[in-house]
Amino acid sequence: MNFSGKTVVVTGGTRGIGRAVSLAFAFAGAAVFAAYLQDDAAADRLNEEAIGGSGTITTVKADVSSQAGATLLIDTAAAATGAIDVLVNNAGIIRDGYLAMMADSDWEAVLHTNLSPLFHCCKWGIRKMMAKRSGVIVNISSIAGISGTAGQTNYSATKGAIISFSKSLAREIGPMGIRVNVVAPGMIATDMTAGLRQELVSKVVQGSALGRIGQPEEVAAAVLFLASDQAAYITGQTLVVDGGIV
Ligand code: NAD
Repeated sequence: MNFSGKTVVVTGGTRGIGRAVSLAFAFAGAAVFAAYLQDDAAADRLNEEAIGGSGTITTVKADVSSQAGATLLIDTAAAATGAIDVLVNNAGIIRDGYLAMMADSDWEAVLHTNLSPLFHCCKWGIRKMMAKRSGVIVNISSIAGISGTAGQTNYSATKGAIISFSKSLAREIGPMGIRVNVVAPGMIATDMTAGLRQELVSKVVQGSALGRIGQPEEVAAAVLFLASDQAAYITGQTLVVDGGIV
């Protein structure tokens, strides 16, 4: 796929799935703006990894759960290139625990971190897209938002919300030539799943049709497809990338 001349913004774009998405777009020719929260070393490594691709990666240190961070990211990308063509809302966290014992702070942190960037980045991103009457948004949900996961009521609530938010926004801005879709990954090998109980990871993976954990690059491939012109007639959809767990 060719994204030459396109500006792509990726939140949580220097690690895990976001890193794979940033690299895939950069190697497909895009000017990528990858937001990250605090890991400067990971951002530096990503800049080096992008060398040799036909596109570029610019890392932007910004807490996109705040309006200030989101506008910094969107404005930096738009000022440098004149447009936002693709926005990938990928930043997210887990704070797992059974609901009866869940700390208020774990409920609030997950709702805030997983949903506020979606609101702020979409709000400021679509203003740029509307000016051009074109653009694509891909939001990263999870199979937890489709089938539910014990111990993840907070996370599942946000991931289900990402799907319904995207369906509504797709209807709202479709008439302006802007598409909104969702990718819902299953169990993918990143720092997020490395922090889970590994017996749980194995159990889920062994129960899937393909019987193996997914790689971040396999999620990135789905994101690029939905962002490409080959998906020009697809909006409001959720593409599950889970090796057959759901
Ligand atoms: P990860 O923990 O490796 O990366 C998450 C990234 O989000 C990090 O770079 C982090 O710095 C960034 N981030 C978090 N809060 C931020 C903020 N306020 N501002 C800017 N950046 C912020 O996780 P991952 O596995 O790569 O997950 C990426 C996305 O995919 C998440 O939304 C996650 O819920 C989703 N997902 C992951 C899996 C999986 O198995 N790994 C499965 C389903 C969905």
